[in-house]
Amino acid sequence: MKVTRRDFLKVTGATVASFAVVDLGFDMAATASGLKGVRTKNVKPVPTICPFCGCGCGLVVYAKDGAPAEGPQLLSVQGDPDNPINRGAACSKGSALMNLREIYSPETGEQEINPKRIAKPRYRAPGSTKWEEKDWDWMLDEIAKRVKETRDKYFEHKDENGIIVNRCEALASLGGAALDNEEVHLIAKMNRALGMTYIEHQARI
Ligand code: SF4
Repeated sequence: MKVTRRDFLKVTGATVASFAVVDLGFDMAATASGLKGVRTKNVKPVPTICPFCGCGCGLVVYAKDGAPAEGPQLLSVQGDPDNPINRGAACSKGSALMNLREIYSPETGEQEINPKRIAKPRYRAPGSTKWEEKDWDWMLDEIAKRVKETRDKYFEHKDENGIIVNRCEALASLGGAALDNEEVHLIAKMNRALGMTYIEHQARI
């Protein structure tokens, strides 16, 4: 059989591409169609983002009637095959995410809300060794009050050489992997308006 140079390149190119996909460890079977094939009555897959580390992997939560409300309702949490970051995979922490909310009680053998889960904001006053439960309104007012006080006290219009800097080095911001592009855009604008120069993201530390 006569093989032209074009045929040779076509065959070897396709082979190299196949090896590249296999070498990168992509599971081509884990696709969105796999998710859509799940048919369990009253169970809806809800996509979310893993809260643990800076990778920001996509996960799918399977809960009775969609998003869980009161009481134990989760069936499983798995890597989201539609998410371009993790493509259906999840590390041991992400795979165990369900236990953040619900666990099996060793006493009763029943699924129950994890008693160690912190579901309300907690505040520890300066110098105190005790945490106090606070509501969100109190927390947000307190954060806003302290940010304003700090900016008013430490904002610099000019540095020691008379150069205009308009900065506040007493405030810093740490972003998280669960923030989306629009949220990050708004937070960065707010940080700059406050004069912040120390702006970081959890994925870089
Ligand atoms: S699944 Fe693992 S690697 Fe991915 S964001 Fe969660 S903790 Fe990080």
